[in-house]
Amino acid sequence: MKYISTRGRSPALTFSEILLGGLAPDGGLYLPETYPQFTDADLTTMRGMNYRDLAFAILSRLVDDIPSADLKAIIDKTYRADVYSFAREDQNAEDITPILKLEDNLYLLSLSNGPTLAFKDIAMQLLGNLFEYVLTKSGQTTNILGATSGDTGSAAEYAMRGKKSINVFMLSPHKKMSRFQTAQMFSLQDNNIFNIAVKGVFDDCQDMVKAVSNDAAFKATHYIGAVNSINWGRIIAQVVYYFKGYLAVTNNNQQKVSFAVPSGNFGNVCAGHTARMMGLPIDKLVVATNENDVLDEFFKTGIYRPRGSANTHHTSSPSMDISKASNFERFVFDLVSRDSAKVRELWNKVDNGGSFDLQATGHLAKVADYGFVSGSSNHAARMQTIRNTQAKYGVTIDTHTADGLKVALDLRDSAVPMVVLETALPAKFEDALVEALGSLPPRPAELNGLEDLPQRFDVMDFDIDAIKQYITEKTR
Ligand SMILES: *Cc1c(COP(=O)(O)O)cnc(C)c1O
Repeated sequence: MKYISTRGRSPALTFSEILLGGLAPDGGLYLPETYPQFTDADLTTMRGMNYRDLAFAILSRLVDDIPSADLKAIIDKTYRADVYSFAREDQNAEDITPILKLEDNLYLLSLSNGPTLAFKDIAMQLLGNLFEYVLTKSGQTTNILGATSGDTGSAAEYAMRGKKSINVFMLSPHKKMSRFQTAQMFSLQDNNIFNIAVKGVFDDCQDMVKAVSNDAAFKATHYIGAVNSINWGRIIAQVVYYFKGYLAVTNNNQQKVSFAVPSGNFGNVCAGHTARMMGLPIDKLVVATNENDVLDEFFKTGIYRPRGSANTHHTSSPSMDISKASNFERFVFDLVSRDSAKVRELWNKVDNGGSFDLQATGHLAKVADYGFVSGSSNHAARMQTIRNTQAKYGVTIDTHTADGLKVALDLRDSAVPMVVLETALPAKFEDALVEALGSLPPRPAELNGLEDLPQRFDVMDFDIDAIKQYITEKTR
């Protein structure tokens, strides 16, 4: 299994070779040369499997340069009930991603029972253990440098904490994350975790990371690595729960299932696309956006028009506040029949601040062949969906999941099971939940008093040299 770049001008590499990096050298994203195929017989075999065995059955087809026994051990260590311990009372933590039935043909797939209460744990925990394995084998170390507005940073830190070969330098906008998110990150006392609060906004943090990553010499001498949303290791970890969700709500492989996915960077739903390309009988992939509707606009009109950070709305589902969807190029590569010259032409426009139109080229008509449909939500609809879900099913959901459920209800075919991905637990977004329901959402008892723990972080100006000097000092 080799991985190729969507832009067609980088050499094909193995999984371990692309694991630690971000973009391919030609600026593209990595994808498998061909998608492995799961047959009817394969799916039947998978029906009886627990999460770990299912993950191994899928990941072993995508990762062929780690010996099977080692890959199995990494997976077994990653997907344990005690790591995904925040399951609802009536759910079995052993399921890792338990399914919750709301009504006939309408389900939530609980992806947020891990340590940071968001679905990003599922992928990041695997990445932490894969990084540690690959680095230990090669005798290397890495310094992960990232920017976060909340969920990515905490998931990365909880996955990498205490790992000898890895340091994490995480930039976040000073005083701009929720109290819960801040406490979750800054209360970590592990000496391989460095929280840097930048006096600025999230985009300033991201610009600092980009500036450091663009300094090839610094990047090489300081072993700078990334765990951002385009990391292929994260995508494949997410493929597993689409299979898990499908198998949980069907009893034969002739049935089709739709998934509704609260989307930002298109990472989560890209994993759904990958699962579908691997043969999972998915009917629709429902892309749900918030007020930042760049993806909804594309699926409705064929026009992909990234907004620029100045035009990003700050919403009550903040983890979906993106102005461009960094994984979207992976889907478009498939949509244009893997024509990398075409992808280069399209992203040449995007990278220069422009847009492109696939209606004009006839590609929009083909989107339906991939199951994609879309819709968007907004603050009022989100609040109403949280209230309705509480009243009708007695289930409290977070603001992101509410966007997914809202769009799912708008677009669903009631004869086809619809699985809405729960991307965070409501405890993570207390203020918005209080606004919707008038009371605090349930919080896992272990996290009571989180905001009162001592915090460890450094404050920094928006200054490229300062972050380079900081990394140099801390890794000396
Ligand atoms: C990151 C995140 C999303 C968006 O996921 P993408 O993979 O970027 O599309 C949605 N909801 C929550 C809670 C998140 O943390």
